[in-house]
Amino acid sequence: TTTGRDRLRIAIQKNGRLSEPARALLASAGLSWRESRDKLFCYGESLPVDLLLVRDDDIPGLIADGVCDLGVVGRNVLLEQAGERAEAGKPAVFREWRALGFGGCRLSIAVPEGWDWQGPAQLAGKRIATTYPNQLRAWLRAQQVDADIVVLNGSVEIAPRLGQADLICDLVSSGATLAANQLKPVLDILRSEAVLAGPVAPFGDVRAELADLLLRRMDGVLRIRDSKLLLFQTPREALPQVLQLLPDAEPPTMCAVDGSETLALQALCHGAMTWQRLEDLKRAGARGLMVLPVERMLA
Ligand code: ATP
Ligand code: MG
Repeated sequence: TTTGRDRLRIAIQKNGRLSEPARALLASAGLSWRESRDKLFCYGESLPVDLLLVRDDDIPGLIADGVCDLGVVGRNVLLEQAGERAEAGKPAVFREWRALGFGGCRLSIAVPEGWDWQGPAQLAGKRIATTYPNQLRAWLRAQQVDADIVVLNGSVEIAPRLGQADLICDLVSSGATLAANQLKPVLDILRSEAVLAGPVAPFGDVRAELADLLLRRMDGVLRIRDSKLLLFQTPREALPQVLQLLPDAEPPTMCAVDGSETLALQALCHGAMTWQRLEDLKRAGARGLMVLPVERMLA
């Protein structure tokens, strides 16, 4: 691997489901860039952190080769390529650093709608089309089921109709694509989302501090993603009922309003603050409820 680089390089998907959310997350961690003319490289301006825009499948390999230091990629892709390396007897060089909370999907077994699903044993001797042979193989092994894996690079969902396979193992989010091909998901073998991927070994130079700074900022962003600051007052005796309605809040800051039995509170709440919740809080005794957005947080 490359050592002695003094800038951090992050690979993200150029075009696709993860490109926009990945950029948005990095931007909210305080990064900004100048794009190259070919739009493949973004030079970091606010920090020495550059972006490389690539196909998502290339991201684990770029980290393995030391061309990039970090990457934003689906867990499904990362695990698949980790499995491929393991199968080839190569050491693990990249791993998941953080789950990022977007790009959620499942790697699922889907069978023709007409099947009466009875469980994994039913897959014995069947042909399963997938783009994820390593994860499927590992799962079949764990289930002690012997089936044939048909590796396809795309259009997996039409394989049963074409007679190439009996069923499939593919990514599912809404299930609409499956339904359109008369297939139904019966079992998830992986829950996936976008992750920050990085090397197994620590960086031996200034990149370690840069990665650390970035991680702390990203953690701050991820922690407050749906968070709101709630301000309100409540009579002291209503406090227990009010707090019961705030199970997702950090321990609130409280102070007594001068010369009264009223308390003023501020609480950081991590769940959604709907009108319904505000009305429930009001019924419990809270007054002057105010919901404020949280822009940044540094723990
Ligand atoms: P590239 O051109 O970069 O190779 P791609 O076609 O492989 O793009 P996308 O379809 O943009 O990739 O999907 C990127 C990632 O988004 C997937 O690997 C997966 O982690 C996630 N994802 C979320 N929902 C879905 C879904 N319904 N189908 C496929 N991927 C999904
Ligand atoms: Mg791809």
